[in-house]
Amino acid sequence: MPRHRSKLSVDLSEPVPIPPEAIERAIDILHSGRLFRYGEFVAGESEVARLEREFADYLGRKYAVGMNSCGSTMFIALKSSGVEPGDKVLLNAFTLAPVPGAVEHAGAEAVFVESDRGCRIDLADLETKAKGGARALLLSHMRGHIADMDAVCEICDRHDVLLIEDCAHTLGAKWNGRRSGTFGHIACFSLQTFKHINAGEGGLLVTDDDEIAAKAILYSGSYMLYAQNAARPAIDAFESLKTRIPNFSLRMNELTAAVARPQLRLLGERKKRWRRLYQQLAELLSGIEHVRVPERDEREDFVPSSIQFFMEGLDEQKIADVLDACSARGVDIKWFGRPAPHGFTSTWRHWEYVDELQSLPETGELLKTVCDMRIPLSLAEDDCRLIADTLADAISGVNAE
Ligand SMILES: *Cc1c(COP(=O)(O)O)cnc(C)c1O
Repeated sequence: MPRHRSKLSVDLSEPVPIPPEAIERAIDILHSGRLFRYGEFVAGESEVARLEREFADYLGRKYAVGMNSCGSTMFIALKSSGVEPGDKVLLNAFTLAPVPGAVEHAGAEAVFVESDRGCRIDLADLETKAKGGARALLLSHMRGHIADMDAVCEICDRHDVLLIEDCAHTLGAKWNGRRSGTFGHIACFSLQTFKHINAGEGGLLVTDDDEIAAKAILYSGSYMLYAQNAARPAIDAFESLKTRIPNFSLRMNELTAAVARPQLRLLGERKKRWRRLYQQLAELLSGIEHVRVPERDEREDFVPSSIQFFMEGLDEQKIADVLDACSARGVDIKWFGRPAPHGFTSTWRHWEYVDELQSLPETGELLKTVCDMRIPLSLAEDDCRLIADTLADAISGVNAE
């Protein structure tokens, strides 16, 4: 008999809330009409410039450039670091569609790297593919799972591969005491609604390299107003570049920055809450037959806005039935094993614009079973129990059929 039949009342797609201070500031900006970050005759700093400075300080990096999405920052990261059409760029086979999209946008050739059983980039395959020659590694800390960064950096250095971090899921996270986003030559962050800071859309690129920062600012669409960027290199760095770098118009607007800034200060609190909820869910879910929650390395200090687990020993049809049964009780779980792309979960097999279908047996096996659930901050302890019971009921239901 199922333990109980109640339905989860929290909407798992619920975004993190926008703080009142952010709403007030956004309204002031709307009243002023000054929604564009640049102006020819401006007094004081724009909201975007302030966010750039605060963001760079938060991470301890020299420069930050705001853009309209993380996908845009990844594209500009590749362009600014000199990736040319036809260059090989390594990336995780298990990642989100904007990542191969950025590589395609830059005209580069995507070479996918396998995933290990913890959803991280597979170090042995990275070594093999880096040895084969590549200009850059666009490394996704997919769903917040951080690989051994000392090993990743060592492999990249040894093969002269430039490291760009995709930190869409690791804002506030650390590896071995050092912030995610400080390992790569460049790192890219997202302010999209389902990440750690919710500004609707938005991205930030960070780097310590003068030339890359100047190029990124010009590419992002600064016109000749780059002096108004706050976390930028000295004006000299722009002199020889300003007429050579095209303006791709990917700027961040003032509302986005106004909505994001107060949330940067709330990250610590949010992280604590997410960690507590993750701990509870991980414990409860691990106790269910057919469910495996990946072990986390103790050097990984993660910020889990979602939880991943593997449904093992059940065939595709059974997994689909389990997820349908959960969904009917308000527990929406994403699954990367669907044959057809669905919602946010397309996989490398579906990215047909990439020239050849690459053979990635380990990732293929992994993705058959990977499930993914968001962790809204408003979840209570009882809700965690209800989620686990719902999943356990659904699994015993399909097994009894
Ligand atoms: C969301 C996400 C991105 C892209 O972020 P956008 O701001 O939506 O462009 C990149 N990488 C990963 C792994 C993501 O989950």
